[in-house]
Amino acid sequence: MKLHEYQSKQIFARYGIPIPRGKVAGTADEARQIAAELGKRVVVKSQVLVGGRGKAGGVKVANTPDEAEQAAAKILGMNIKGLTVRKVLVDEAADIQHEIYLGVVINRAARRVTLMASAAGGMDIEQVARTAPEKIIQVLIDPFIGLRDYQTRHVAFALGLKGDQVRDFGAIANGLYKALLDCDASLAEINPLVITGEGKLLAVDGKIVTDDNALFRHQDLAATRDADEETSSESEARKFGLSYIQLDGQIGCMVNGAGLAMTTMDIVKLFGGSPANFLDIGGGASADKVAAALRIILSDPNVKAVLLNIFGGITRCDEVAKGIVQALAQVPTQVPMVVRLVGTNEEEGRAILAGAAMQTASTLVEAAQKAVAAAKGKDYVPPPPPSPVVYKSSKQAAPQAEAKVKVKTKKPIAKKPASKAKLVKKVARKPVAKKAVKKTAQ
Ligand code: GDP
Ligand code: MN
Repeated sequence: MKLHEYQSKQIFARYGIPIPRGKVAGTADEARQIAAELGKRVVVKSQVLVGGRGKAGGVKVANTPDEAEQAAAKILGMNIKGLTVRKVLVDEAADIQHEIYLGVVINRAARRVTLMASAAGGMDIEQVARTAPEKIIQVLIDPFIGLRDYQTRHVAFALGLKGDQVRDFGAIANGLYKALLDCDASLAEINPLVITGEGKLLAVDGKIVTDDNALFRHQDLAATRDADEETSSESEARKFGLSYIQLDGQIGCMVNGAGLAMTTMDIVKLFGGSPANFLDIGGGASADKVAAALRIILSDPNVKAVLLNIFGGITRCDEVAKGIVQALAQVPTQVPMVVRLVGTNEEEGRAILAGAAMQTASTLVEAAQKAVAAAKGKDYVPPPPPSPVVYKSSKQAAPQAEAKVKVKTKKPIAKKPASKAKLVKKVARKPVAKKAVKKTAQ
């Protein structure tokens, strides 16, 4: 779950990270009042859970309360990358001399938290990461020892910081790391961390992304979840405990198990289709949960076909079938469906689905091919059976032709036409070589 800038900065402040004074407003009038209270030049900032607000016109500096009101009126209701701005943060404006990037992130490959920093911070940091990655300094943090002073000093010097800034930077980096750990976050980021005209460090922007699997330990954070920032499908999926991620393809997939779901998506791609979502109904899903999953899939207007791939283990196929029938009674649909149902109670499951208008498949390959064809509005044409080998009538012709084929596939570069004797030798030698390999392997 992403936290808003103002929430992230409030958390940062608890860890001793300096942030500007400011408050959140829901109306232009409130923004004016806050600006008047602050009594200084302010910056009015859209609070939406996407990056790049500055470039989208969602961050405006205002010299007077009236200007703040005007800026807020412009920003509130603005659409930034598909999200409507409903709140603005009115912060005391900073006198920015320089913008630094500072972030801590879980680095799965290294199984550590990585601290990243760059003197080329600000709005173009993604561009810097792509074109000049050497400008980003990285430090791995040992989970047992934590962030050490020598590490933060090293980074501070690399950023060109001087005097008190080096010590202050150390405190900020440590605070950020502790905030990441305490919030069970996967990312905590300050971009920009600015150097002000007075040479002080100040966190002007903030971002925290928490790990949803740990949210049960953070009821206070979970309660602040911004429902506006979630699609209705996502919040519905969360309510039923479904792992659902919307994608932009045409084939809705309902699968039990994350690994099977990924495999299903891969196979759909392999046969030229594109998945509309990732959806894992989990183990032992009830009919209600299955029905919710199907409703969510069918609510996506891009979905042109649905592929249900259920491998019954703990999950019972009859329970899944009941859920499908239940969902179809609630949301009648013309979208073609293909179901592959194998495992526990598959017979019962098939019997329940017998009346429903669905194609069935016995293998995932067949199911994926049928779903891809259905999404394109075509009928599924089974692939032709492999063509039988046709031998010439002459007695010698057959083995020769076979030998040639074998050698050709192994060694396509062979230019000289090999004599028959040589070919036979080559083919005959192969199994011997294999045996030898096996022996050494044992
Ligand atoms: P983002 O674009 O969504 O990352 O939003 P930021 O909060 O990072 O703001 C974007 C840019 O606006 C920053 O990189 C700054 O250049 C500028 N900005 C933000 N706050 C202030 C401020 O208080 N004073 C000034 N002068 N510029 C600011
Ligand atoms: Mn930023």
